Amino acid sequence: MTNQPPPVVLPEGYVDFFRDLENWQNQELIKLKQVYQPPRQDIGKALDGNKRALLQQVNPGIDAGSLRDTYMRFLAWLQNARPAVSAEIARLLKQAETFDFQEIAAAFTRGNDVYFEGLAEQTGVTNELLFFTIDHALRPYLRIFALPYEEELPNADSLPWDFPANCPVCGAKSHFCRLTFDEGHRLMFCDRCFSEWWIRYIFCPYCGHDRPGDIGFITIENDKSPFKVYVCEKCKGYLKTYDERDGAPSTDLYIANVETIYLDMLAQEKGYTNHDE
Ligand SMILES: [Zn+2]
Ligand SMILES: [Zn+2]
Repeated sequence: MTNQPPPVVLPEGYVDFFRDLENWQNQELIKLKQVYQPPRQDIGKALDGNKRALLQQVNPGIDAGSLRDTYMRFLAWLQNARPAVSAEIARLLKQAETFDFQEIAAAFTRGNDVYFEGLAEQTGVTNELLFFTIDHALRPYLRIFALPYEEELPNADSLPWDFPANCPVCGAKSHFCRLTFDEGHRLMFCDRCFSEWWIRYIFCPYCGHDRPGDIGFITIENDKSPFKVYVCEKCKGYLKTYDERDGAPSTDLYIANVETIYLDMLAQEKGYTNHDE
């Protein structure tokens, strides 16, 4: 980590919340591995010439009853972890037993936002909160779904879609990558399913631009930390990066992404975007 405090102070408990959330997901993942064994797909074939991620093309085989149990456990955890929203969580806890979890898993994997807007309205909580709870309850399943492809994800260059920042396994947009210690390979990281996939060193994952003079990074004054922000002058995109090349130890990229919100703010102040709007 840095020798100096980051230029932006995060609200107290912010990083701890995400650390606890990741711990909860790790524990769920260990439990669910016993009961959730998704059928292995031929990912190379599925992605060949197709603009959709693997998860958007296949049935991930998530059992509705199992997902309901996970979801109820997640709500109970969240109620404790975020007292500020406990009234909304209580509303969800009361109604969640009647949710159609088969439909929820299908709507999530297909990216059907309208379904969740309807469910949020029906339940009387904000769309953001409802989606947050569904998303995070599903993540342990998605991480299990992604495991078999860890070693065989294609290079972003060979992916057919226009935005190599999207995860080839689950389709979520990534805003984080790392440069590996051994050979300085660049790997995109998906914080939803924890997949990593290669992209070229001089290459913008948002627009595909690769002219060396247009891909640079923001210099952070006096900052010797391994965190860097790569920027593309063509689309004004930025990408946070953890650089292991100078011997920085491997780190939890999920937490690293949360901890470095000051870099998002810095990049956005300078007129760059992570294309997330
Ligand atoms: Zn993913
Ligand atoms: Zn770009």
